[in-house]
Amino acid sequence: MKVPSDGDVMMAKRKAEEHIESEGKRKKKKKLVTPRPACSWVHFSREFIKEYSASHPESSGLKAATKAASDAWKSMSLEEKATYTRRAREVWDNYLSTAPARAPKPRKQTKLVTRCSPGRLFNVLQHLTTEQKDAVKSMGFGSLLGLRCRTLRRSLCLWLLQRFNTSGRSLEICGKRIPISPKDVEFVMGLAASGKDVVNSGPDDLIADLRRSYNATNRGISVRLLEERLKAPEAGEEFKRSFVLYALGTLLSPTARLDVSPSFLHFLINIDVIHQYNWGNFLLDRLVREVSRFRQGKQRAVGGCLLFLQLFYYESVSVDGPAALVPTPVPCLSSWGEEEITEREKRERDLGGYGFGEVICKYSCTNMESSEYRNHIDVSPTLKTSTGVAHGSVFEQEGDKIKVANNLMTSSIACRGIDATAESTGKPCRNKEYGCNVTLDYNNDHEETCIFSPCACPLPNCNFTGSSEQLSLHFSSKHWDSGRRFRYNNPLSVSLGINEQFLVLQAEEDGILFLLNKSIESIGNMIMVTCIGPSSSKEKFLYDLVAGRGVSSLRLKSLAEYFPGRVEGFPPIDFLLIPFRFLGYSGQLELEVCIWNSKESGAGCS
Ligand SMILES: [Zn+2]
Ligand SMILES: [Zn+2]
Repeated sequence: MKVPSDGDVMMAKRKAEEHIESEGKRKKKKKLVTPRPACSWVHFSREFIKEYSASHPESSGLKAATKAASDAWKSMSLEEKATYTRRAREVWDNYLSTAPARAPKPRKQTKLVTRCSPGRLFNVLQHLTTEQKDAVKSMGFGSLLGLRCRTLRRSLCLWLLQRFNTSGRSLEICGKRIPISPKDVEFVMGLAASGKDVVNSGPDDLIADLRRSYNATNRGISVRLLEERLKAPEAGEEFKRSFVLYALGTLLSPTARLDVSPSFLHFLINIDVIHQYNWGNFLLDRLVREVSRFRQGKQRAVGGCLLFLQLFYYESVSVDGPAALVPTPVPCLSSWGEEEITEREKRERDLGGYGFGEVICKYSCTNMESSEYRNHIDVSPTLKTSTGVAHGSVFEQEGDKIKVANNLMTSSIACRGIDATAESTGKPCRNKEYGCNVTLDYNNDHEETCIFSPCACPLPNCNFTGSSEQLSLHFSSKHWDSGRRFRYNNPLSVSLGINEQFLVLQAEEDGILFLLNKSIESIGNMIMVTCIGPSSSKEKFLYDLVAGRGVSSLRLKSLAEYFPGRVEGFPPIDFLLIPFRFLGYSGQLELEVCIWNSKESGAGCS
């Protein structure tokens, strides 16, 4: 969002002034460097101390001056303080209008704990003999030999995990929903997305011998033991089994634990059919399962192939603009080494963080016969050649279309490009001017729920409209004086004059705007709190209103409904009716308001 340039100039001027001021008092500590603007007291005391020191040369040091300033401040009337309050507000005004991030802050990032370690597999790959490499290829895992990446980018993985829809099997990023299918696993990781389902269950006695040979405990098979076994030059059945276990346990399907799941032995009984399996589907299923378990709080570590998620993001979102759509070799795994990833991450940062690129369709359906796709024709797991890569236009797909056919053990995935090309209109969402990047292909429902739907500035003399985020910024930069700032979960005392019909409340934490609405009815005042935003907004805010008169009090606790601006008429929402006798002499209404953000809404405010 652009900041008006005159604002910039003012800000710069003010900064310069502050700088000059601070130079005048070198003794003063770091205080003036704080990023947040000073309050009115600070403005007053700066000025006061300056004058005091000049007029009291005998006074030694800052302490006496500060004390005098403090005494003077306490004795000042509200009107006298108003000058400084105004000045503080001006600075705040500029601060808020130039502060870069007004978007709601993402949830605090926890540390990512994962056993997915490309570096570990990479090290093992370096020591394989030619025969062993051939054995790996014969099992359909040849693409792994092209692995060049050694470390996961954890902040990216965390970011992606937060946007990974496990039930819809999609990533919700850049204003779009990008479905993920086993075909994407084939595209990125080079593992076949067709063939027999991998089944990792069965009677225990079938794998009893294998369990013994791998010293498998209930915890699992030791990764170190596998590493030891893989050091032997042997390239036969035992090598193959150990390699698959190791690749699954360290990269393709790690669980929350370091040890490899012994259940994998079920599909390793007959090592000769290992190339016939649908590994793409298996990898995706396991990723979905592990992320779901992690979300349910069942485990501290995130399992599943996070490397796939990371590379899938790189391949699905372009940060180089449309001109940069050049074919990449398939599978993509081999094109992402440490250098390429570092370069890519740098471009992400230049753009302002993750999610600012453009979603692209890396391969078109012309290369993927849907019959092969849908009917499980048993194709050998040879890798797609680079002709398998083409680029399509920007697409948008509703995850539901994918979900329909996608239960856990089948890979009947509808080709994502087919519907899109059949009905593609390429029409941008009507809220494009407010920041929505979605292209309407066939899912014309999008506009109904688009979070960029415009909201109107609630002030009667202002014609501004914009997305709720733009409106928050607009309000804090243009109407600082017209609203009240509040902190979530903290009660705020407000007063509404007899002619005031509403009060704008702006959350300090995320800038979200709320309206305290008042309408005068025949028996009293009707009060309700709404949140300014499109009605499709997901976040829920509980609020609490308390009006008191002597020992009487009236209270309403309810959920703030969303309205894209002022509330007109009588919407069917909760309200608090306050009898006239609760009002002050001049008809003003005193209230206490508390708004909770969802995380703490469970806590009562009593
Ligand atoms: Zn939209
Ligand atoms: Zn306005």
